Amino acid sequence: MIRVLSVASECAPLVKTGGLADVAGALPGALAGEGVEMRTLLPGYPAVMAAIEAGARTVWTAPRLFGGPARLLLARAAGLKLYALDAPHLFAREGRLYLGPDGADWPDNPERFAALSQVAAEIAESAPAGWAPEVLHLHDWQAGLAAPYLHDRRLAGRVGSLFTVHNIAFQGLAPAGRLSALELRNEGFAAEGFEYWGQISALKAGLVYADRVSTVSPTYAAELTRPEFGMGLDGVLRARGTDFSGILNGIDLAAWTPPYKTPRGKARHTRALRAELGLPDAPGPLCVVISRLTSQKGLDMLLAALPRLLDEGGQLALLGTGEPALERAFRSAAAADPRVSATIGYDEAFARRLIAGGEAILVPSRFEPCGLTQLYGLRYGTVPLVAYTGGLVDTVIPATAAGLAAGVATGLQVYPITPDGLSRGFTQLCALYRDRPTWERMMRNAMAHPVGWEASAPRYASLFAEIAASKAAR
Ligand code: ADP
Repeated sequence: MIRVLSVASECAPLVKTGGLADVAGALPGALAGEGVEMRTLLPGYPAVMAAIEAGARTVWTAPRLFGGPARLLLARAAGLKLYALDAPHLFAREGRLYLGPDGADWPDNPERFAALSQVAAEIAESAPAGWAPEVLHLHDWQAGLAAPYLHDRRLAGRVGSLFTVHNIAFQGLAPAGRLSALELRNEGFAAEGFEYWGQISALKAGLVYADRVSTVSPTYAAELTRPEFGMGLDGVLRARGTDFSGILNGIDLAAWTPPYKTPRGKARHTRALRAELGLPDAPGPLCVVISRLTSQKGLDMLLAALPRLLDEGGQLALLGTGEPALERAFRSAAAADPRVSATIGYDEAFARRLIAGGEAILVPSRFEPCGLTQLYGLRYGTVPLVAYTGGLVDTVIPATAAGLAAGVATGLQVYPITPDGLSRGFTQLCALYRDRPTWERMMRNAMAHPVGWEASAPRYASLFAEIAASKAAR
């Protein structure tokens, strides 16, 4: 077994703001059958501390970690083997993971996640409780500084690292003046280090110092090496050459199992969802969206194209939270038309009812590293209509003339990603919906499409094995 420590700032089902949590939560189980023993280091947020089961023990303490005392608990929670970093001055806060009550980033976010990263390096160095990881799996900027910390502690020759980018838009920037507060060496503050336009970038630290870098789909990996998508880091990724790759996300099939086995079984759930939301019957598909409401997700364009969907007989039910302007816009769209429903909030149980009852699921993102909701949609025969970008390209087989002729289509891809493009997509979606045999074929194809970890778990396992072997050989 290869010992891998996963270092993540969120992990389903304990704490979640987005897809990163699902992946961090699912990988340990998916990799257990692939010769990887994965443990997970998480911040000791209140929700994590509350979920820890009896029998946890303290395996490391520090009188002072970035401004206060800290201890590390080795524990079990939600089927995971966890190291919970109990540091109340950093993590014992009510509210959201990264945002204070005012909706702005916690001012000490750089230190909070520097602490997590420093403790990851500490586990690599001192192997508390006798468990020495061979590879650190670092997720997003929150774990990025662990890569330079491994180098600073002269551990990089012995302990490997994989840095996984879940979204390049979140860069973990801090002013240059925080270098020593973050326990970083001045030499690293350079173009070929973690400096990014005069600031410290925890994301870039991961991209530069980790042994290997991955992202969550092959198409996003290719996109990230181009200036339109790389957000200033495309050159860094090009320089990593074949050390950088894309491994597609999966979903946890046990956690996402539709309450029906065939396309016909969905009808009951669609009726129930319409009843729950007070939506009238309709000649077109009931389309659902479950999303953060941010410009990344392209939902402003969905609003612009919404009249076409409704004209064609479709309906919309949205669940999301995020930017106030988008929340307001969807609330008023719902108030203005009985065929539109908008629920502003975060609600996993409702998300499942939407996916089970929805007939199509919409993901019109401007960019999308992988995207998970279209995967849930496939699994539930909820036909995805997605933007032609990132992981959406890799997971949906489009209903082009060729896709339909071959009988393999699982959904629709929209290009270009504009209000006009989306409107055309809605026209095609509704036409396909009226053609029942073709629609049911797409539903069956979707439900049969592999969306679990069966293909990607072995790829992670071999990447970890390669990284571990490169250290053993030194
Ligand atoms: P991202 O990570 O960019 O937010 P993903 O599609 O990869 O996008 O993952 C989003 C995850 O969060 C999915 O599991 C989705 O179901 C969930 N999610 C997003 N918004 C909500 C919400 N308002 N209520 C419940 N679940 C949500």
